[in-house]
Amino acid sequence: MRIVLFGPPGVGKGSQAGFLQDRYDATHVSTGIILRTAIRQGTPVGKAAERMVKEGKLVEDRIVRKMAEEAIAHLGFNNFVLDGYPRTIPQAEWLTEFLKDHEAPLHCVISLVAPEEIIVDRLSKRRVDKLTRKNYHLDFKPPPPDIPAERIIQRADDRPEVVLRRLKQYLRDTSPVQEYYRERGLLTEIDGVGAFEEVHGRIREVLEETSALV
Ligand code: AMP
Repeated sequence: MRIVLFGPPGVGKGSQAGFLQDRYDATHVSTGIILRTAIRQGTPVGKAAERMVKEGKLVEDRIVRKMAEEAIAHLGFNNFVLDGYPRTIPQAEWLTEFLKDHEAPLHCVISLVAPEEIIVDRLSKRRVDKLTRKNYHLDFKPPPPDIPAERIIQRADDRPEVVLRRLKQYLRDTSPVQEYYRERGLLTEIDGVGAFEEVHGRIREVLEETSALV
């Protein structure tokens, strides 16, 4: 299956994509994770992107395009869940062309929807274990007490002032991508509010229907 998981930052795309990996044998491809890894490793791409990622601004299209295309090609143009890509109309158009050239069109785009106050809450209370890169939420999924406190950090782009910038940017540049896929009959919107398992169940229902058609 070739899937895009779409939605605002903090809506839960990353956690859901990770769990889909096992059930559908589809690898989670997150441009955000690829970028943060490149930044930690200090690669040329990481150095070029660092300021934009930390400030919650979009990294140049051509940089992320190359990353996404390399990851998809590496997977043989199949069995992937894209998370955080495409985020602009040019990225969406490139992806369509790229997949068309390899006769591997998307099967579906699942858009997770949640009100802004829930998203702000999830992002501002998100914490990361810097060793395992696992995400936690201070209220709903607190870090286990045996993890030393200094290992639990907040992402630079989850600070409140950066969160608001990311949400504005999402509305301006990224939400039009949803219409792009709706017009092409690929979009299914899913309520992203609720416990992880509930949202997961809704996504699986859509994927069961889609995989029956594949
Ligand atoms: P994420 O983990 O998906 O929230 O991404 C973290 C940050 O990486 C974003 O705020 C952007 O700075 C950058 N980024 C990730 N994916 C893209 C993309 N498709 N286009 C531009 N910038 C991106």
